[in-house]
Amino acid sequence: RKRVLKISTGSKQFDAILGGGFATMSISEVFGEFRCGKTQLSHTMSVISQLPKDLGGAEGKVAFIGESASLNTEGTFRPERITQIAERFGLDPEQTLENITYARAVNSEHQMELLNKVAEYFVNNEYRLLIIDSIMALFRVDYVGRGELNERQQKLNQFLSKLTHVAEEFNVAVFMTNQVQSDPGASALFAGADGRKPVGGHILAHASATRILLRKGRGEERVAKIQDSPDMPEKEATYIITSGGIND
Ligand code: ADP
Ligand code: MG
Repeated sequence: RKRVLKISTGSKQFDAILGGGFATMSISEVFGEFRCGKTQLSHTMSVISQLPKDLGGAEGKVAFIGESASLNTEGTFRPERITQIAERFGLDPEQTLENITYARAVNSEHQMELLNKVAEYFVNNEYRLLIIDSIMALFRVDYVGRGELNERQQKLNQFLSKLTHVAEEFNVAVFMTNQVQSDPGASALFAGADGRKPVGGHILAHASATRILLRKGRGEERVAKIQDSPDMPEKEATYIITSGGIND
């Protein structure tokens, strides 16, 4: 029988508002503006996932689907960050890196191909975390105009259906990062108190069981706020980004 596991963020305060961390068997989404720590959190969880369960891990391997560095600076996987974070947790850096399967998507169609490929790896029951950094970036590049919005949302829906299936079938935590809408005139339906809302519309909102807004706080502080959760109240937590990853 499959049991839901929670993977720690690296910050005790952040974990507390999540009830322990990000859950397997469901889809979680963090969204926020540039440099709020989405990619750093992805790296930190890629290490923590491998830790014993009593240390906030899931004793599982990780698949990390990022964007190609040639598109922009977002979403790029940095092995040297994994090395530093592994050291914080007393893990062997090389072994930790070996347990992370990294793939770079060059467009949204390729992103789907990569997802299908990593889903095959999940059959052996060794993987507990799948990261998509970031979910909407490539869809937004590939489907630009208003006239392409329907098609984009259709393809996005297919991708999200696959993610849902993978999460439930293989007891994997799906962790997606997302961008915030920049046009202030857009519908305020999913907006946080400060007006920031994720891109991807209703289809993405429906697929993400847990949604977290990340933003900059005072000084080096960052703030995580639950916007949607099946079992936790809408609380806030602060965290910082260190060389060892996300921390209190
Ligand atoms: P996002 O993906 O949300 O755009 P990132 O996860 O890339 O943001 O986080 C960028 C932030 O992380 C920057 O403020 C940067 O200073 C900080 N950061 C990156 N690496 C380190 C490190 N080794 N030590 C401390 N802070 C770091
Ligand atoms: Mg990023």
